[in-house]
Amino acid sequence: LPSPEVEALQHADVAGLLPEPTASSDKYRRGVVGIVAGSAQYPGAAVLAVAGALRGGAGAVRYVGPAAQAVLARYPETLIGPGRVQAWVVGPGLGEGRAGEVAELLAQDTAVLVDADGLRGLDAAALRARTAPTLLTPHAGEAAALLGVSRESVEAGRLDAVRRLAQRYGAAVLLKGSTTLVASGGGAVRVNPTGTPWLATAGSGDVLSGLVGSLLAGGLSGADAGAVGAYLHGLAARRVGGPLLAQQVAEALPDAWRDTR
Ligand code: AMP
Ligand code: MG
Repeated sequence: LPSPEVEALQHADVAGLLPEPTASSDKYRRGVVGIVAGSAQYPGAAVLAVAGALRGGAGAVRYVGPAAQAVLARYPETLIGPGRVQAWVVGPGLGEGRAGEVAELLAQDTAVLVDADGLRGLDAAALRARTAPTLLTPHAGEAAALLGVSRESVEAGRLDAVRRLAQRYGAAVLLKGSTTLVASGGGAVRVNPTGTPWLATAGSGDVLSGLVGSLLAGGLSGADAGAVGAYLHGLAARRVGGPLLAQQVAEALPDAWRDTR
């Protein structure tokens, strides 16, 4: 990719950015990620986002929402209910009519990743006013809704779309799809070289959001967390092969982590 402002993410960059525990680590210092996801209609999105977050290396994962029973049945490690976190993930499986909860999180001075239904009705001015890390993770359809254009036009100009979103919202943006692009608020774009079309399956984006939230909680910037998360997510999916389940991508993250060493 010839343009100096668009680079392929390198293996060495990822290895250098991944937060690793040390002898003096404790779970709180490693970062707590809060997941606001799921609804009566989509409880699975909550479980998968929690799975990605737990396997993303955070010290602890906190879940806030109506799918606590489903989450605990699968991951008893999860803390339930509001509390202090280093990063929030809001949106997977949230359903409609929850923009107020999203706005409340965005008003806090804490890192936030916004995905899926959380992207409905975002207030650009409120986002631009934030100083804590902010990352939006739309697929092409969600990006089209944010930009007020057709999905086809996003697909036809993905680089332009990701840059325009980053500028409009003053945030890092991860545009998902066959090639995942990550723009920083400043406009630099990285292309993720890992991944497989088998990721085009229900729930894989929910796992990514939890994983990237975990990296944000570990102290990475929005753009670095997005780039490293997309890289690990793609490596994990390749480890599984196909046809894969989203939950298997989460469970393969330790293998992907090892592949970066
Ligand atoms: P979502 O659209 O939120 O379900 O997320 C889907 C996940 O799968 C994202 O990480 C995408 O980047 C990835 N993905 C979707 N389609 C493809 C594809 N054709 N090739 C590679 N990755 C894909
Ligand atoms: Mg999604």
